[in-house]
Amino acid sequence: MTQDKKLEILEKLTYHPHNGAKVLSKHTDKVILPEKILHSLVYLQKLHDLSSLPHPLVFRLSTPSQNTYVGVKEFHDKDESSIFLSEDVSKRLNICPPIYDHIEETAEIDDQVESLSIELALNVSAIDNTTKKAIIELAPRENYRVLDWKSFLEATLPANYTAVTTNDVLTFDFDQQNFVLDVVSVKTTENIRTVCVIDRDIELKIKTPSGSEDKSSSEPNDDNDGLLPGEYVDLFGDKEGEIKFGERVKLKIGPAEKIVADGEFSLAFDQFVSNSRFEIATMNQPEKEWANETDDEINVYVYGFRNHDDSLGAMKFTIVKEGGQDKDDRSEILDVDSVRCIYCKNIIKASSKVLHENFCRRNNVLCPEGCGEVFFKAVPPTHWHCCLTYGDGEWSKQLHAEYMHDDVNLVGVTCKLCGEYHCTTKYVLSQHVSRECPKAIHECRYCHLVVARGVPCGESRFYGVSLHEWLCGSKTTECPKCNKIIKLRDLETHLKLHDMDRLNNTIPQVCSNALCVNVVETVNANAIGLCKDCFGSLYSTVYDPDGKKLMQRIERRYILQIKNGCGFCDCENELCGSSAKCKVPPQTRESMAGVVKFVKGEVMKEVLNRKGLHFEFCVSSSMDQRRRFVSMFEGGEWARGWICKSNEASGNDVNAMGQWLENHAVTNIEYNI
Ligand SMILES: [Zn+2]
Ligand SMILES: [Zn+2]
Ligand SMILES: [Zn+2]
Ligand SMILES: [Zn+2]
Ligand SMILES: [Zn+2]
Ligand SMILES: [Zn+2]
Ligand SMILES: [Zn+2]
Ligand SMILES: [Zn+2]
Repeated sequence: MTQDKKLEILEKLTYHPHNGAKVLSKHTDKVILPEKILHSLVYLQKLHDLSSLPHPLVFRLSTPSQNTYVGVKEFHDKDESSIFLSEDVSKRLNICPPIYDHIEETAEIDDQVESLSIELALNVSAIDNTTKKAIIELAPRENYRVLDWKSFLEATLPANYTAVTTNDVLTFDFDQQNFVLDVVSVKTTENIRTVCVIDRDIELKIKTPSGSEDKSSSEPNDDNDGLLPGEYVDLFGDKEGEIKFGERVKLKIGPAEKIVADGEFSLAFDQFVSNSRFEIATMNQPEKEWANETDDEINVYVYGFRNHDDSLGAMKFTIVKEGGQDKDDRSEILDVDSVRCIYCKNIIKASSKVLHENFCRRNNVLCPEGCGEVFFKAVPPTHWHCCLTYGDGEWSKQLHAEYMHDDVNLVGVTCKLCGEYHCTTKYVLSQHVSRECPKAIHECRYCHLVVARGVPCGESRFYGVSLHEWLCGSKTTECPKCNKIIKLRDLETHLKLHDMDRLNNTIPQVCSNALCVNVVETVNANAIGLCKDCFGSLYSTVYDPDGKKLMQRIERRYILQIKNGCGFCDCENELCGSSAKCKVPPQTRESMAGVVKFVKGEVMKEVLNRKGLHFEFCVSSSMDQRRRFVSMFEGGEWARGWICKSNEASGNDVNAMGQWLENHAVTNIEYNI
């Protein structure tokens, strides 16, 4: 009998829309069931001696015309037949949604009472399906500001829903915003239209709405070139390339590296950098560059200012080692034949010095402001100096004035987002938006939603996070390693502690029988390092202070093993008479005397040479099987002790063993550090 049959239950339940005594959130597929259902299941479990009930419990709920799959929020003891539904579930069943205002029950209302059938849906429950992958394709109804749908849904989907069916509508309430997604399709290897989303390997595919770019969600920017918030081109590790005017790129800059561009840009550490939001911008410095002064490689987002002087459409950039490619540095390396022209500062041949400098004196002029630029005949009127910077062209001068001198009338500028922050220049205002404005959007490091930062509270300020992140980080999650419930904001530190614990572990000791992969508890191990199974027949209560008697028993075991074999023809032991791999010559094995001589000589000599920590005793065929799995990992990142331990913990499953090793074992490289 299959488990399906054993746990078969079919009950009639009643649903009263007006019975709002148990309040469920609107958007969930979890229902509240009478305890009677749980009692029936536990009864059936005991009756059929089942080790556990399926987890999570998924039920199929139906009216005469509709059906849907639901999970369980809790069980109630109010009566034996009432079921409480959320708005979502009532909609799926096409019946009246729950009404929470308590009204005296009247005959009129009783008309709305629905009779529902409920049965356990074992084909959907995760019990047998955890290893099989399911693909769920979802289509958000609108262009929500969610950058990473997968992270968002991985956290919110199982919290609200238990099972997902093709054509379902999923709704998530988050930060006073509704996110509505249509389930386009559910694909499983079993061809079932419904999958349980709890404790199961789910691949999510997101279909973004096409052709309906939602510009209204953009931050109110002066001129953000129609760039959607957070939209950027990832240039990965590129060390040189182009930044289109009015666009963002994501770059990696190593320690002591700098980005050098041939146009004006702004830069920030998140994807929302723009012409009105940045950490730094170049209009107040002559060099169009920014250096990474940290010790780490960091991701930066760079916005290219639209250059009205230029029809190129893009600026070029390179990422160089700081000080590595400076013109001045290079020009110091003068060879004997070269000199520097005192007028244009170029390096010229010593032999042509007089001729060149005569020409230069008459034709070239050095900027009198000291910027070092050289011009033909005269400094052009487009060359400008202001504050500590200078440039060429009307446009760059205007840009400088726009960002650095908005205070000409001494009125200053006010933040358009929060309406509260006031400062003297657009440059400082753009830094406010990038760093702290409570109304500016940011991507939450925990839920990955793109939301406003919120007005900071004392704690959020202290921890250097936004208010949203402070609240979000206060939510709890289960540690994937120890299942402890911890705050999201503590998870990173908590996982680091796990990692430190992991690194403190020594390599587990394995049974000294080379054919056995059992891990031995070092505290109560026997003197010769064998596991309990392998030591078993060698155990004796006879007084044996110097271990001589034990050696005799080992000798006898080898003699019998070689002479008679273990009786298992697939045995891989080279010192076993049954094994095809037996290395003892057949003529030696023919007589008892020959075997005894062989064991006393070669075998026991080997045992004593190795200080008794290497044996070759026959093992069961299941141990042979386990050893084959262990050998698949040998010679790799981990010591044999760790591999054996992973097999003990995860069974004969290559993926599970690999996963276990990643999570718990210390690699050979880590030991050497
Ligand atoms: Zn010159
Ligand atoms: Zn100058
Ligand atoms: Zn200035
Ligand atoms: Zn502001
Ligand atoms: Zn969040
Ligand atoms: Zn933990
Ligand atoms: Zn063993
Ligand atoms: Zn054998």
